[in-house]
Amino acid sequence: MTHAVKFHPGLMLLEQYVEGSLSADVALAVSAHIDLCPHCQQLSKDITNDQAAVLAEQDVSGRDAEQEWQQMLNFITSQPTISSSASTHTDTAPQVASVSVNGRTFEIPRALARLAEKQNKWLHLGGIATAKLPTADKQHVSLLYIDKGTEVPNHTHLGLEMTLVLAGKIVDENGEYGVGDLLINSPDDTHTPRTLADEDCLCLSVLSAPLKFNKGLTRLLNPLQQFFY
Ligand SMILES: [Zn+2]
Repeated sequence: MTHAVKFHPGLMLLEQYVEGSLSADVALAVSAHIDLCPHCQQLSKDITNDQAAVLAEQDVSGRDAEQEWQQMLNFITSQPTISSSASTHTDTAPQVASVSVNGRTFEIPRALARLAEKQNKWLHLGGIATAKLPTADKQHVSLLYIDKGTEVPNHTHLGLEMTLVLAGKIVDENGEYGVGDLLINSPDDTHTPRTLADEDCLCLSVLSAPLKFNKGLTRLLNPLQQFFY
């Protein structure tokens, strides 16, 4: 991967990922980012080691023993999540997973391989296509393809929006994002993502609530909202 990843999950998010306290779908986006980002691979290893050291120092016989026991259990049960991102090749997920859309085939991170096998049909709207990845969680996970020179209408977020660039490049009012970059937008953020004139883009999108589109007639907004969510 020649692109230097610039946008990472915050330290708190990584810590929660290592602890196993994130919802499965948010963890999926973080895990796929880690697959693409050597910096966060190292950081999550360091966090794992730090948390193990803290747990080793704790006196389990104290009055908080039960709580600490629970913490340790949580820690132990969170381990497979971490090792699975580092060694997915040992399980049944294909080593190289890819998705095809608009006559193009893209390689995707191993963290997404098994989910991508259950991918729904692509839905197309202008130069944009989405395909849901069915998960058990309440969040909505989908692949988002944006053809070159295409703009996603300006929108605000009603919940958390996580967008991980899997291929190509996307730009919005706040910057330019390449492979591995993770954009996190919260309810008050408004932006207009678009692709460059000469390059299309594939992203993983995790939404905790629908997008709210700011332009156009009200009657046109609802179908658009449904399309993305
Ligand atoms: Zn990173």
